[in-house]
Amino acid sequence: MAHAFRVGQGFDLHRLVRGRPFVLGGLRIPHPRGPLGHSDGDALLHALTDALLGATGGGDIGDRFPDTDPRWEGADSRALLGAVWAPLRKAGWRVCNVDATVVAERPTLGPWKPRIARGIARLLGIPAGRVCVKAKTLEKLGEIGKGKAVAAQVVVLLDKSSR
Ligand SMILES: [Zn+2]
Repeated sequence: MAHAFRVGQGFDLHRLVRGRPFVLGGLRIPHPRGPLGHSDGDALLHALTDALLGATGGGDIGDRFPDTDPRWEGADSRALLGAVWAPLRKAGWRVCNVDATVVAERPTLGPWKPRIARGIARLLGIPAGRVCVKAKTLEKLGEIGKGKAVAAQVVVLLDKSSR
C-alpha cells in the first residue's frame, strides 16, 4: 500500500461590519458585527477550502466561486466547502488533520473553539480530535486589533492510499 501525502495551506480575511451575522467555521456567534462578503464571509471555512484546493492543485476559492457570480451571493460557506471536498473525498483523499488559527480581537472566541472544531470535523467526516482550532488576538494592534476584521489561517494534511 503506497501513501501519497499532500499538505495545503489557506489564508482569508474579512472586514467586520454592523448588520451582518458573525459566522465562523459554520457557526453563528453572537456579535454586533459580521463579516462582509459575497457569501456569508466565513473566513475560517474559506481558508480551509483554499487549503484543500492548494493541497490538491485545484486553484483557489476565487476561481471556483467568483464573487461576480450571483449563484454564490449570500452562499453558506459550508456548501462551498462541501462542493470542493465531496469530489476529493470521492477520489480517495482523506484528511489526516486540520490545524487552524483564527485572528480576531472580538468576539472572544475561546469558548467557541471546541464547537467550531467539532463542526469542521463533521463537515469533513473525520473525528473531532483531528481538527485543532486556535484563536489569537492582535493585542489591539492594527485594523484586526480594532475589531474591524477577522482573519484565518489553515494547514491541512491529506492522504491518499493506493495499492
Ligand atoms: Zn473569504
